[in-house]
Amino acid sequence: MTRFVVVTFGCQMNEHDSERMAEVLRDAGYERTDRPSAADIVIVNTCSVRDKAEQKLLSELGRLSKLKRTRPDLALVVAGCVAQQHGKRLLARVPALDLVVGPDHIAELPELLRQIELGGPPQAHTGFDLDEPRFLSARPGRAGAAPSAYVTVMKGCNERCSFCIVPHTRGPERYRPSREIVDEVARLVSAGTREITLLGQTVNSYVDPGAGQLGAASAEPASGWRHHPPSQARRDQSQFAELLRLIAREVPGLWRLRYASPHPRYLTAPLIVAHAELPVLARHVHLPVQSGSDRVLRRMIRRHSVAEYLERTDALRAAVADLSLSTDIIVGFPGETRADFQKTLRLVERVGFTGLFGFKYSPRPCTPALRLGDDVAEEEKSARLAELFGLVESLRQKHLGQCVGTTQLVLVEGRGRNGRYTGRTERNEIVHFDADEPLAGQIVPVTIVRAFKNSLDAELPGSPRRGQSTPRHALPVLPC
Ligand code: SF4
Repeated sequence: MTRFVVVTFGCQMNEHDSERMAEVLRDAGYERTDRPSAADIVIVNTCSVRDKAEQKLLSELGRLSKLKRTRPDLALVVAGCVAQQHGKRLLARVPALDLVVGPDHIAELPELLRQIELGGPPQAHTGFDLDEPRFLSARPGRAGAAPSAYVTVMKGCNERCSFCIVPHTRGPERYRPSREIVDEVARLVSAGTREITLLGQTVNSYVDPGAGQLGAASAEPASGWRHHPPSQARRDQSQFAELLRLIAREVPGLWRLRYASPHPRYLTAPLIVAHAELPVLARHVHLPVQSGSDRVLRRMIRRHSVAEYLERTDALRAAVADLSLSTDIIVGFPGETRADFQKTLRLVERVGFTGLFGFKYSPRPCTPALRLGDDVAEEEKSARLAELFGLVESLRQKHLGQCVGTTQLVLVEGRGRNGRYTGRTERNEIVHFDADEPLAGQIVPVTIVRAFKNSLDAELPGSPRRGQSTPRHALPVLPC
């Protein structure tokens, strides 16, 4: 049987796409392996959001090209954002490549591979499915459903953040009909999945392309909290809140619902009310802010201000007790002064983020920020990033310390290498604990006993403390 391996770089969307590739190939009779050395087909699913990820890909391709010299039958495929960005040019740059496929061509992989196997020439397929967008469904695996699963609700991005290559590599926004989304969630939940993360580049800008399933988009809630934004929110209408309500209503067996990645512009009043009213929504939101300086936000073309970000996150926190927030921040964006960076630190402290993905700005092709140059020295970018991480670490430590002594419901993901169970709380804290019984995929209450640097140590109620001697039962003495 022909074996394939998928090597994944980048974000959750890429991980999700890699799983869909594996599904379409398994359906076509291919067998998955984890080791490139054991594979007949190597698919590298790529990320081009940062220069570093692209460099890593090129060195991986160099290594695979060498392997192909010793195994000429090996098929090499590049998928994902770098495939989309470079298309045919990648075939010219890496002659060992057989296939370049953009994210909208996953379903065609088996047919394209068959043509390669029959001796066809290298090919590049990178058009966007603008007329008839396709969304491949996640399927429960052979061993049943994983405790957590991703479901795509939209793809592409209509924003034009000046540093970001995604609108170029993923195309304009295309939305999936709400009926399809609800059906996929229901299928996964009935197979045993407990937690769903809805995925999209700006997931909360969702609008239902189906026939009136969700009703008209609205920027005002039907009841409860009223939002009077200073500028943008009335125009930033979406039906994301309605989609969340539909899922909660039609899939009552779903235990926890998350989404990634939202844009602050679409943290609308109805979405905040949905958080207040739907217990299924996790009490954690990852809301990228990128900078705490209005001047830098304008240069980034983020289309929201610091005050608007704070107003919306404050409202979300007022609506949901103990909600935790995490974010993305870029340091060293062109023109970012020390004073701008200080504003970012102040924002991070003011919001009290418990998690943060921080990056040094790197110029990306096809982005408007290229025109702004790259004027913050590399050492200064590194120093700012270290300072930012230091601040977030102290905020996280404070937050984790406050969890000690509380009881949390944890969705158990499985055992780690040290044999301890790992799971996540509603607020996305990582928890480790010991238990003898099989608990993977279960929801269990645990008592938090200690804060580690990035996670929590916990005990099942009634279980002995770690290191405490457990009572041993004497072995029966059997007569010889
Ligand atoms: S919202 Fe901005 S940062 Fe996010 S994918 Fe779109 S352009 Fe990129």
